[in-house]
Amino acid sequence: MVNIAIIGAGLSGLTAANKLNKLGSVTVYEKSRGVSGRMATRNSDPFFFDHGAQYFKIKTNSFRNFLSPMFKDHIIKEWKGTFAEIKDKKITYLNNDTHYVGVPGMNSIGKYLTSGINIKLNCEITSTIRKNNKWYLKNSQGNQSEGFDWLIVTVPSHQSLKFFNKETQVYSLVKSIKMNACFSLMLGFDNKIPMKFDAANVYNEDISWISVNSSKPGRNKEFCLLINSSNKWADQNIDIDKDLALNYIIDKGSDLLETNLRTAKHKVIHRWKFANTETKNNYSYLIDRVNNIAVCGDWLTYSRVEESFTSSNNMVNELTSIL
Ligand SMILES: Cc1cc2nc3c(=O)[nH]c(=O)nc-3n(C[C@H](O)[C@H](O)[C@H](O)COP(=O)(O)OP(=O)(O)OC[C@H]3O[C@@H](n4cnc5c(N)ncnc54)[C@H](O)[C@@H]3O)c2cc1C
Repeated sequence: MVNIAIIGAGLSGLTAANKLNKLGSVTVYEKSRGVSGRMATRNSDPFFFDHGAQYFKIKTNSFRNFLSPMFKDHIIKEWKGTFAEIKDKKITYLNNDTHYVGVPGMNSIGKYLTSGINIKLNCEITSTIRKNNKWYLKNSQGNQSEGFDWLIVTVPSHQSLKFFNKETQVYSLVKSIKMNACFSLMLGFDNKIPMKFDAANVYNEDISWISVNSSKPGRNKEFCLLINSSNKWADQNIDIDKDLALNYIIDKGSDLLETNLRTAKHKVIHRWKFANTETKNNYSYLIDRVNNIAVCGDWLTYSRVEESFTSSNNMVNELTSIL
């Protein structure tokens, strides 16, 4: 039986694990204490925040089919909010797309996909060794894994470079894909703030998104907001003190909503060093048949939840024909 290691338990790693589990013995290594990666949810009682992916769309039948058990089990629901975009402080309302979310959190989708999968949490892989046609993984505690026939890397581009041989084409391709940063501000309030929308994309500002996280289905109803910085501002200020970033984004949000957000009783900011790609790429996935290594993730095409599924699904289809 083929022995496969997957680094990363975000949607692409878990999609691959679910599909390959039928074909071989799969082990997923995840550095965090929970799964889901950038489809992240934080429970800060009584507030509940999705501080990574905010929602997703479904464009292809294969994604819809993959998700159908989760629709049946009420893990995915439509977010029937009021959606808008704000340009130069002018609000335009949008009503042409269906927005889906995990319930009760975006990370519910990743959690659902762990059933029957061998996952090692709190296990950061720091290096890989290729010896006698096998892959061995070393973790941050200095332990070395058993030997694997195939290695699948699903980690954001520059974080994954350490796993590839610098002489290979995979290394130079991965290195060429830049990911941008983002700060996600989580604000919880005692009382509701009057809002003209549930979610808005913001353009030409240092913030790019404002949403009422508590307006999503199945959430705790305590009023809370999620505000994302723009990628540009985050890239320019990535090493800034977190409190400075928090206060700057609060003030930008206050200005836009014309209300004082500093009154929030819960204020936390999260720094994503590798949040998304701003440009579209055309790789979908990479497979090196000589070294038995595959790479997938949203960043090989475009930073969207569906793209991370598609990248993984396409990679698995080719791998299945090789195995
Ligand atoms: C702030 C933000 C907002 C977003 N908003 C949206 C949105 O509204 N709609 C949308 O469609 N998409 C959105 N996205 C993008 C979406 O979250 C991603 O496209 C998708 O979650 C990527 O999944 P993935 O599995 O490819 O990568 P990830 O989710 O990044 O998974 C990689 C996993 O690898 C783990 N890992 C990293 N290094 C190691 C290591 N050395 N050892 C072991 N494990 C490791 C990580 O902890 C992580 O769990 C957003 C992303 C961010 C950050």
